[in-house]
Amino acid sequence: MACNICGGTDFEDYRDRKGERCTDCSSKARHRVALMVYEAHLLPLVQGAEKRVLHLAPEQFLHDKLSDMVGAGYITSDASPERYSHAECLKLYFPQDFDLFPDGYFTAILHNHVLEHIPGHYGDHLIAFTRMLAPGGKMIFSVPGPYLDRQSVEGGEHLASDAERLEKFLQEDHYKMLGADFVEFLRNMEGGELLSDGITSKIREQLSVRPGKAPFFVWQKQS
Ligand SMILES: [Zn+2]
Repeated sequence: MACNICGGTDFEDYRDRKGERCTDCSSKARHRVALMVYEAHLLPLVQGAEKRVLHLAPEQFLHDKLSDMVGAGYITSDASPERYSHAECLKLYFPQDFDLFPDGYFTAILHNHVLEHIPGHYGDHLIAFTRMLAPGGKMIFSVPGPYLDRQSVEGGEHLASDAERLEKFLQEDHYKMLGADFVEFLRNMEGGELLSDGITSKIREQLSVRPGKAPFFVWQKQS
């Protein structure tokens, strides 16, 4: 087993998840899977001519790798850019501030554990993101779960307190919990196709990721 972000070979338990965190760089399972997915699905798209890639909530583990992979067209944004001092992060609120980007502007859009922080319906958000994708472009992303044994629950922004959100959605700033209907929505979303993340159980094991954990979604717009 080795960490594909730093090359470290020691892993430690984190929040009862066995071997979740790399002892050397502190990456979690989803960061290691993300890099593997980017190498398979993003790298071929960004080679050659100049490309634009939007990364929301740009985690440092991935930021540095993506910056090298994409070059000058790598754009980061967040509603709270002060949380990402390693990045030159634009301060943008989704969805209203994203109107500044024309249709088809980005070759790829990347986000991990972002959708559950956005008030409103996930379907509206997925459609708003994919509007900005160029033909053949990909949105590569992950969410907590998703919890395939149940339906999504949304509306955390209407709860009165962080304590209620913590109880209902497992984190104070989570507005939703995504379930089986979320995956179904992605499969049926018009104008593109949901692809497999391509990460086998064996690759997960080599990255110290438990079987089936940290699934990624790759949605490609029709060319
Ligand atoms: Zn590491």
